[in-house]
Amino acid sequence: PDNLPIAEVFIDDDDCEAKKQNKDKPKLVVLGGGWGGIALLKSLNPDDYHVTVISPTNYFLFTPMLPSATVGTLEFRSLVEPIRRILSRVNGHFIRAKAEDVHFSDKLVEVSQVDSEGKEVRFYVPYDKLVIAVGSVTNPHGVKGLDNAFFLKDINDARKIRNQVIRNLEVACLPTTSDDERKRLLSFVVSGGGPTGVEFAAEMYDLLNEDLTRHFPRLLRNEISVHLIQSRSHILNTYDETVSKYAEDRFARDQVEVLTNSRVKEVCPDKIVFTQKQPDGTLVTKELPAGFVLWSTGVSQTALCQKLAKKLGDVQSNRHALETDTHLRLNGTPLGDVYAIGDCSTVQNNVADHIITFLRTLAWKHGKDPEILQLHFNDWRQVAHDVKKRFPQSVNHLKRLDKLFAEFDKDQSGTLDFGELRELLNQIDSKLTSLPATAQRAHQQGCYLAQKLNKLAHLSEGLSANDIRDGDLDAAAYKAFEYHHLGSLAYIGNSAVFDLGEGWSVAGGLWAVYAWRSVYFAQSVSFRTRCLLAMDWAKRGLFGRDLMS
Ligand code: FAD
Ligand code: MG
Ligand code: MG
Ligand code: MG
Ligand code: MG
Repeated sequence: PDNLPIAEVFIDDDDCEAKKQNKDKPKLVVLGGGWGGIALLKSLNPDDYHVTVISPTNYFLFTPMLPSATVGTLEFRSLVEPIRRILSRVNGHFIRAKAEDVHFSDKLVEVSQVDSEGKEVRFYVPYDKLVIAVGSVTNPHGVKGLDNAFFLKDINDARKIRNQVIRNLEVACLPTTSDDERKRLLSFVVSGGGPTGVEFAAEMYDLLNEDLTRHFPRLLRNEISVHLIQSRSHILNTYDETVSKYAEDRFARDQVEVLTNSRVKEVCPDKIVFTQKQPDGTLVTKELPAGFVLWSTGVSQTALCQKLAKKLGDVQSNRHALETDTHLRLNGTPLGDVYAIGDCSTVQNNVADHIITFLRTLAWKHGKDPEILQLHFNDWRQVAHDVKKRFPQSVNHLKRLDKLFAEFDKDQSGTLDFGELRELLNQIDSKLTSLPATAQRAHQQGCYLAQKLNKLAHLSEGLSANDIRDGDLDAAAYKAFEYHHLGSLAYIGNSAVFDLGEGWSVAGGLWAVYAWRSVYFAQSVSFRTRCLLAMDWAKRGLFGRDLMS
């Protein structure tokens, strides 16, 4: 690397006795203070590592509530928590800067920040263990005019949205505004039928219905419109069919227009242009006047991760995320040096390998040679069950597991031989989606890694930093990561999809949902945040939303 200064010693290293004691501990550097990074910090033992978090934002953002902040249901500050406050438990250090590169062989992170004179400064931060948890960025899908659209990723985005929504409402009320212009200003378009888009549309609808009639009596309900544009044939298409059907029915009833099979071509300052596929397969170009467009069509890799993947070469073959092994170690780096968690990463599935091992054991139990194993349909059911249990987020893609058996039994013998089976498994492997980009997953991975690092620190007591680096120790000392899917409801909790059948029905709409959610997320949220949220809810219940910008 270049000759940049190395940050060996931190100015707060001698701040207090506890920090002094950690000075010579192995250096654990965490890139990113989001769901993954924070979960890790919250489960890490206080005295085992010299901890440093590097992130351009100095707060943790509670993303599941972000859509409600955009319409004034919640206060922005209720959704964030200072990283320094969280770090104090582990006597850690914070550097507000952006990671630009990692020099794996020298174990240095290259970071950049703008100094007080507006000049970019760069330096290195050395690590013994590095955790990459930098999340993802909004996917632009190469669409024109996105500078006319709004995004919803962080608190500044939410603030901008709130200001624009309120501005539109106020301008619409001016006596000089024409009827057409008023309709345009009050046309809210959401592009993307995933959970964020659906949730925002639902919040928007609630705002327009609950508060608008109270504060903006001039704006007639039938002049306001909410539209949701989705490229697939259904919204929430990666979720259970029942969930997606429920949300669609609900929107239909609430007069939120859902435009499916539609692809946005351009976002103009006053309208959105899209093509819609007709039932006969032809494409029709349409336009919709829009006073506000939210762009929320999925996530893609950050520049840092793209750079690292390229640098690591062929071992990194996934275009969407950094690949790790099942112990969350970044593929292609010295074993046990570098981990990746959360949205920026994916765990290699290897379901085929896993099942082949499973079958070998099965064959071995029956005293048979696996190569001559014949798998009956009933055995297959068992295997299919195992796959579904391990990859519950992929059930939609695996719905036809039963049918696959017949398809791959080429000689129609009613059994699969080893070759047929291997082919079938390879197909499943390629169809399995990677782990979902959710707070749920990032949180689980952060906790897993903290527990592993805790254990490693104790195993290595008396060993040098070099031994701690030993990757085999890492794998032997701790089990592989296993994802536990807590169901779609743990994610899409808004009223649009909440009161599903099977006893899930909850009265009270969004408020019950948020209460439920804050319980669900209680483990990752501090007492301070919970108090602030509770006050917001009470305030909103008593006085309505704050419609100020
Ligand atoms: P993040 O939480 O995004 O954290 C990334 C961190 O890295 C940030 O601190 C960022 O500042 C920092 N960073 C970025 N670049 C760099 C760099 N170069 N160097 C150093 N630091 C960097 N999930 C759910 O499970 N349930 C929900 O209800 C839900 N609702 C959501 C609503 C919205 C509006 C959004 C946007 C997301 C929602 N998600 C939800 C998804 C969830 O927020 C993400 O899956 C989760 O944040 C991923 O955690 P992470 O730690 O990987 O990344
Ligand atoms: Mg993170
Ligand atoms: Mg959400
Ligand atoms: Mg993210
Ligand atoms: Mg056969």
